[in-house]
Amino acid sequence: MTPYTLPELPYSPGALEPHYSGEIVALHHDKHHAAYVKGANDTLELLAAAREAGDYSQINMLSRSYAFHLSGHVLHSIFWTNMSPDGGGRPEGELSAAIEEHFGGFDQMQAQLTAATVNVQGIGWGALAWEPVSGRLVVEQVHDHQGNVGAGSVPLLVIDSWEHAYYLQYKNVKADFVKAFWNIVNWPDVARRFAEAQQVPPSV
Ligand code: MN
Repeated sequence: MTPYTLPELPYSPGALEPHYSGEIVALHHDKHHAAYVKGANDTLELLAAAREAGDYSQINMLSRSYAFHLSGHVLHSIFWTNMSPDGGGRPEGELSAAIEEHFGGFDQMQAQLTAATVNVQGIGWGALAWEPVSGRLVVEQVHDHQGNVGAGSVPLLVIDSWEHAYYLQYKNVKADFVKAFWNIVNWPDVARRFAEAQQVPPSV
């Protein structure tokens, strides 16, 4: 049993159409996400071999590779469950209240997360995250899979901004992909993640 395994999609690949094409979802999950799972497992083996040999000549490359692949696995796993054929609309309850408190309203949060995602330079993600030190919801603009985020923050809602996430359907118009994404957001999943994240005590 390897440490990391590819989760099943919680719906059929075409279930998110017309907002997100089944061809992209299938490739994205079966090829891209699978590669991050394999990369994380392979890198753990290489790190074990390095310890065995007492050879840390590749430690910088291996450390980066591990963070990159592990974070890719984590973000994609969240991404799939953040979407639903029955998604869209707006959050309710405590999540809605927290968005109101920390952003001034849903529209403001949506605008900030959209801007952070659409304007990623190169490859990255937009994320609505729980920041446990201050006890706030924040928007982060993730570089690659693992950069430009505050230590300890917990991603709740993530939007893939890599070209592989949208190009087959939306070509160069990333903004249209993000606009469509809001129609398939699984708010109950985001609310569940929000409730779980708050169980973790502040890290400092
Ligand atoms: Mn991706």
